[in-house]
Amino acid sequence: MTGFLYEVEKNCPVCEEKVMVTKVRSRLTMVKQDTDFCTYYQGVNPYYYTVWVCPHCGFAASEADFGGLVHDKVKTFLQGKKVNINFSGIRTREQAYNAYRLAIFYGDMAGIQASKLGGLYLRLGWLYREGEQLEEEKAALAKAAEYYERAMTYERMPIGGMSEVALMYLLGELFRRTGKLEEALLFYNRVVANPQAKMEKRILELARDAWQETRELKKKREEAKSQE
Ligand SMILES: [Zn+2]
Repeated sequence: MTGFLYEVEKNCPVCEEKVMVTKVRSRLTMVKQDTDFCTYYQGVNPYYYTVWVCPHCGFAASEADFGGLVHDKVKTFLQGKKVNINFSGIRTREQAYNAYRLAIFYGDMAGIQASKLGGLYLRLGWLYREGEQLEEEKAALAKAAEYYERAMTYERMPIGGMSEVALMYLLGELFRRTGKLEEALLFYNRVVANPQAKMEKRILELARDAWQETRELKKKREEAKSQE
C-alpha cells in the first residue's frame, strides 16, 4: 500500500461477508484537470478505487451503493454464487476497468439512477484515456452522455455533484469528444444563455472557449467535405 491508500473493513450488502475495501486519502495534490473535469493527482489515480468489489460473491458498486439496500434482482442473481476475484489492495488499470464493468452491470440490473451510471461510464472513459485506448474511451464517454442527458430530464439538481450549468457544459464536452459537434454546440449555447452561468464564471469561460473551438472544428470539417 502506498501512503495514499488505506483499507477499511465492510460487510457486503449482498452476501454479508467481510470485505476489505481500499480507500484513497482525501488530501491529494491536484496536478491538472482536463476540460471534462478529469482530474489528475500526484502519486495516485483515485478513479481506480471508486468501485468496491466483494471477493466472495462478486457484487460491485460505488461506495454509496455498496452500503445501502441492494435490489432483489441482483441478490437473486448472485445467490449462492462463489467467485474468485480479488481487487483489494493496489489495483492495476485492468482491474479497475473490470471493477467498473461489474458495477455498471449490477447498476443496470438494479436500475440505479441514470446519473450514477453516467458517472461510472465517465470515470471508466477517463481510465481508458489514461490507458490510451481511444476507441474504448469514446464509447464510454458516449454512454456517459446518454445517461447524463437522461438524468437531466428526470432527476433533480445537483446531479453527480454538479450544478445544472456544469452538467450542461459537461454534456457539451462529452458530445464534442465523441464527434457530435452539433449537439456539443447546442449544450455550450445553453450554458452561455443560462442566467445562472454568471455565477459560475469558470464554467462560463470554459463553455465559451469550447464553443469557439468546436465552431472552428465544424467549419474545417465542412470545408474538407465540400472539397471531396
Ligand atoms: Zn458479497
